[in-house]
This record gives sequence, structure tokens and C-alpha cells, in this order.
Amino acid sequence: MSNPNNAIRLAGAHGRFLGSLVIRGGRVIDPAQGIDAITDIAIRDGFVEAVGVGADAPPGAQVIDARGLIVTPGFVDLHTHLREPGFEYRETIATGTAAAAAGGFTTVCAMPNTEPAIDTTAVVDFIHDTARRQGSVRVYVIGAITRGRKGKALADLVELANAGVVAYSDDGDCVTDSALMRNALAYSRTTGRPVVQHAEDRALTTGAQMHEGSVSARLGLPGWPRAAEEVIVARDCELAALTGAHLHVAHVSSAGTLDFIRRARSRGVHVTAEVTPHHLTLTDALVGGHWWSATASLPAYDTRTKVNPPLRETPDSLAMAAGLRDGVIDCIATDHAPHGITDKHCEYQAAASGISNLETALGSVLAVVHAGGLTLVEAIAALTIRPARVFGLAAGSLLPGMAGDVTILDPDREWCVDPAQFRSKGRNTPLAGHLLRGQVIQTIVGGEVICDRSA
Ligand SMILES: [Zn+2]
Repeated sequence: MSNPNNAIRLAGAHGRFLGSLVIRGGRVIDPAQGIDAITDIAIRDGFVEAVGVGADAPPGAQVIDARGLIVTPGFVDLHTHLREPGFEYRETIATGTAAAAAGGFTTVCAMPNTEPAIDTTAVVDFIHDTARRQGSVRVYVIGAITRGRKGKALADLVELANAGVVAYSDDGDCVTDSALMRNALAYSRTTGRPVVQHAEDRALTTGAQMHEGSVSARLGLPGWPRAAEEVIVARDCELAALTGAHLHVAHVSSAGTLDFIRRARSRGVHVTAEVTPHHLTLTDALVGGHWWSATASLPAYDTRTKVNPPLRETPDSLAMAAGLRDGVIDCIATDHAPHGITDKHCEYQAAASGISNLETALGSVLAVVHAGGLTLVEAIAALTIRPARVFGLAAGSLLPGMAGDVTILDPDREWCVDPAQFRSKGRNTPLAGHLLRGQVIQTIVGGEVICDRSA
């Protein structure tokens, strides 16, 4: 099931981080190697040299004391909106990758709904070059499926693969034309890159503002049925079967979607899927208003709850955790979607969809762990080796020879979400003022500490 094309070009900040250090005494969890033990890690000149008690410190290397902390491979995000080029008031490659580092992510995959869209070699090169100069973490690029993401004609998928994209997506929009989707899958099979579908039948979501259910009825907001996602996933599974290609379903929100994926997989169809932290933890009840605590609350119709696909109901979020446990969902992806103040400072129906997610993702995922919905090892796997395998990225493991990308975290440290402190330009999160349990202490890229809360 792995990506047959192992020639994916190293992109972004690769090669810039060549530090040496040793991390001592932490609980190292590396699901790729089946490691869960108190041990040491040595990184030399940017790459993992050894994992094991007493691993030698390279001469002159910094020593990090990780006793009492969890040490994992750097997190991998398959779904990040960096907004550059075109929407720099929302985010830039510099601020988005700084936010990634703050959230423990050392590898992100940039979505192509920029302006211009990422549909030519020139734009791919621009992102690689900018990430190399200004990025805090490694950046891979996802190319558009269709020219200008307009859903009318295929982009040059072979040219994009040669430029180094790791997948194709029109995310933000769904490829609704079945023949076009079939052709995209057929081409993608020859380049070995998956097609990432934003599954939304627009005919069923015209004017929709939130999940269709009792809350939308009470609030008088037009609803968005689960079927809008399910019918596209059902169709795409058939098209993946027809073409033999790899379909990746972005941000699954409906429990019913999992049944279609499960059935396709049982027939040998190559389908993978991701879930966001918010679809694991939040529901449409939040749109109707909620008190987190004495100091934090959301009024009804708060635009920070508006997201695409919408927050669903409790059985859906529980099904997402179950899907991660049984493997029908491969990984967690943030769908980090930063917006400017004016994008959200308006009435619900006019507001942009999306949550600034990179810096709260770990805390949200650990909330599921603390509630018993996932084990810590399952959660770490879903943030590291499992996403890396979906796109065939050389990341997500501390195997000697791999890049020295490490996240050190305290699963019990409590902190209050204050968007004013975000590295991201996007302050749009419904978790503002909310207390999260679990925080990144240090993020290390290529043996260099790029985020440090250890003081
Ligand atoms: Zn999307």
C-alpha cells in the first residue's frame, strides 16, 4: 500500500537543519519501530544516529534532559493551509511553519488553494524556495487537480509530479465532475501520488452553514447533511476501484463515510482517510453556544465554530476515534485554516470556514486520550508514521538515518488557549480561553531546537 514512487524530491527546509544533540531520559514512543521505553536519542549533523540507553553524544552536542517527558518523532501534517502566495494577510509560509513548530509538527503538506493556485511548476518552485529560506519546518507541496482549481480541466499532473508535489487536491472545492475525477485518478496512478478529495456535493450544501440536525433547526441556519460527504466518497471509491489508483479522503466528518471506506478496502481498493482534531472532539452543539469555564464561553452563532465540513454530532466524533483505533482512518490531519479578523468578524452566513489548528492540535488529540478514546501510542502513531506512510514521506520515525526531527511533550501540562500568543496569523479558534491538558515542550528539526518551552 506504500507509495510506489520513492523519488519524491526533498523540499522546503530540507538540508538547512544540520544540528547535533542528544536527548536523555525521556519516554521515547516511536510506533514505527515499536519503541515505547525510557531511553536516549543521539542526532548527528541533522540525522538520527542512535536510539538506546547511553547513546553517545556527538562531540560538543547540546544535551537535552527529557526526564518525565514524552519523546516522539516530529509530527507530520498532511493538510495545512499556508495561504502563500495570495493570502498573506491570513498566513505566510514563515508564520504557518512557525505555528507548525509551536504545535510539534516538523513536516507539513501545503494545500494548493492559493492565488495563483499551485497548478504549475513555477508555483511549486516558489513554495519550495520560500520554505527553504523562511520555513521553520519541512514543507511538502500538494498540487492542484484541476487548472486554477476550477474543476473544469485537469492540471498537468505529470509536470506537477516532476516538480515534486506529493499529492493532488482541489481542497476547498470538490471535484464534482465524475469523468474528470476518473481521469485525475488514472493519471495519478502513473505518477504514484494520491488524489486527495474534499468530499462535498455542492448541490446538497448550497447555502448550508452548519451540520443539518436539531441544532441547525433550532438556530434557523441552513443545514449540511452527512450525505453531501457520503455520496462523493461512495462515488470516488468506485472510481478508485475502476482506475486502481490511490484515493485519500480529506477531513472525514460523518460516521457513515467510514462504512463506504471500509467496504472499499475490503475489496482491495486503495483508499486512505484522515480526520481533524476538531471532528474528533467538537460537535454542532458548540454552534448553539457553550460555556467552557467561568472565563471562557462561546455565544450561539459564534463564527469561530464555522468549519468545512461542519462539526457533526457526538456519534460521529466517537466514530472518528473508533476509526483511528481500528485503522479505517489512517491518520490525524489538522486542516489548519487561518483567517484574517474580517473573514470571521461578521454574521454567521457571511463568515469564512476554518479553524487555526496547528497550535492546539496536540491538546485536542490528547483530550481524546485522557478520555480513554485512544491510547497515547495510537495518538502518536496517528500524528507521525501513519500520515507519513499515506503520502510515502520519509518522516515520522526515529529510525537511525532518518531526519533528526523530534517532538518532546508533556501530556499533562495544562495551558489556556490564548490566540493572541499564536505564531499563526490566524486567531480563529473556538478553543480560545479553553484549558487544554498536554503541551509541546520542544520541537526539534534536523537536530536544531526550533521551539522551546522548557524554561
Ligand atoms: Zn477541505
